[in-house]
Amino acid sequence: MMSERRWVTVLGATGSIGQSTLDVISRHPDSYRVFALAANQSVEAMQALCIKHQPRYAVMTCADAAQALRSALPEALGTEVLQGDSALAMIASHADVDVVMAAIVGAAGLPSALAAAEAGKRVLLANKEALVMAGHLFMAAVERSGAVLLPIDSEHNAIFQCLPANDRAQPEMAGVSKVLLTASGGPFRCWSSEDIALATPEQACAHPNWSMGRKISVDSASLMNKGLEFIEACWLFDLRPEQVEVVVHPQSIVHSMVQYRDGSVLAQLGNPDMRTPIAHGLAWPQRIDAGVGPLDLVAAGKLDFEAPDEARFPCLRLAREAVEQGGTSMALVNAANEIAVASFLDSAIGFAQIPAIIEQVVERVSSVEPDDLAVVKKADSDAREAALEAVARLRTSH
Ligand code: NAD
Ligand code: MG
Repeated sequence: MMSERRWVTVLGATGSIGQSTLDVISRHPDSYRVFALAANQSVEAMQALCIKHQPRYAVMTCADAAQALRSALPEALGTEVLQGDSALAMIASHADVDVVMAAIVGAAGLPSALAAAEAGKRVLLANKEALVMAGHLFMAAVERSGAVLLPIDSEHNAIFQCLPANDRAQPEMAGVSKVLLTASGGPFRCWSSEDIALATPEQACAHPNWSMGRKISVDSASLMNKGLEFIEACWLFDLRPEQVEVVVHPQSIVHSMVQYRDGSVLAQLGNPDMRTPIAHGLAWPQRIDAGVGPLDLVAAGKLDFEAPDEARFPCLRLAREAVEQGGTSMALVNAANEIAVASFLDSAIGFAQIPAIIEQVVERVSSVEPDDLAVVKKADSDAREAALEAVARLRTSH
């Protein structure tokens, strides 16, 4: 039993992870209460969430959306509507907050996730891009403040569960030889390179096992999601790139594995439903009901495993090379990918041009030591600019 009620801030409340988080919270009203919600600009969705969860604060990215939400909410609700980055940081670090779900998509989620880490909160990290961009700074902030960092990405949550409870910070000392990061392979797993090059945004967003936001869906189709997760695993669990191996597992039932020196391999299994890792992060080290049905292995029947194909999915290689190179190269890859994915979703470029653009950006923008947040932000904006130029070059050459 949970002894006291915990106050939760949900950053990215209207998104796929945000909604799943609020679903789990609603199942445990005696244990969790919503302190604040934040979203980009979907006023109607936020209005409904505010009425249901009655947060003390609601934060929108821009002033117009905040004003629209303010007028849409009954005054008696008592929710204060704020806007912008400083408000995001405030609700992530407020003294009354116990838990912060960091589920904004992309680099936009870094400052607020970092604010939660610096304030020593229990940080449920879904926003993998924050760690990819600024893993060094993020992990240092967690260390300094004593924040409890719980990975929500299903693979990393699985790895966390399979690591030895007392020795997670030093996996090698605890006899861990490797982490096996599973990948569904995405919707184009069996497609030829020629067909992949012609893929449409709708095809890329139709994931076989998971229902997710559009950006991460495209990342899953290109395997950049696994590339970002590869980097994420290295930061979270202090692993070298050669200690992480990607294994394609199309059923998405084994969420990842940890291999030990003595030959043992521990796995975490479950239905592909993000409410499981979210409930784990909320309640750890306890366990609560997540609303997820029991896994039926007999119905699943078969669990398949195969090697990833980096020739058809070059994004995986680009991410691995970035982590091997170190410095700001991971931030460069992340930013270039965000621009390339947005351009693909706008039908400005083809699917095969996503890795081509990232490759051009890492060739043109040099990696430096990521000493502080300003350096990381500069790398991010330089890479965005170079990626936009690459997109423009591609468009004029057509
Ligand atoms: P989504 O697109 O469904 O939701 C994104 C949320 O972020 C929305 O609430 C949106 O309003 C908010 N947002 C977007 N831009 C913003 C900005 N500039 N400022 C403030 N808020 C902003 O995305 P999602 O699928 O929920 O993914 C969220 C994060 O979780 C991503 O980093 C993703 O990689 C990660 N993740 C998602 C899943 C999943 O199953 N969906 C699994 C693992 C990890
Ligand atoms: Mg994942």
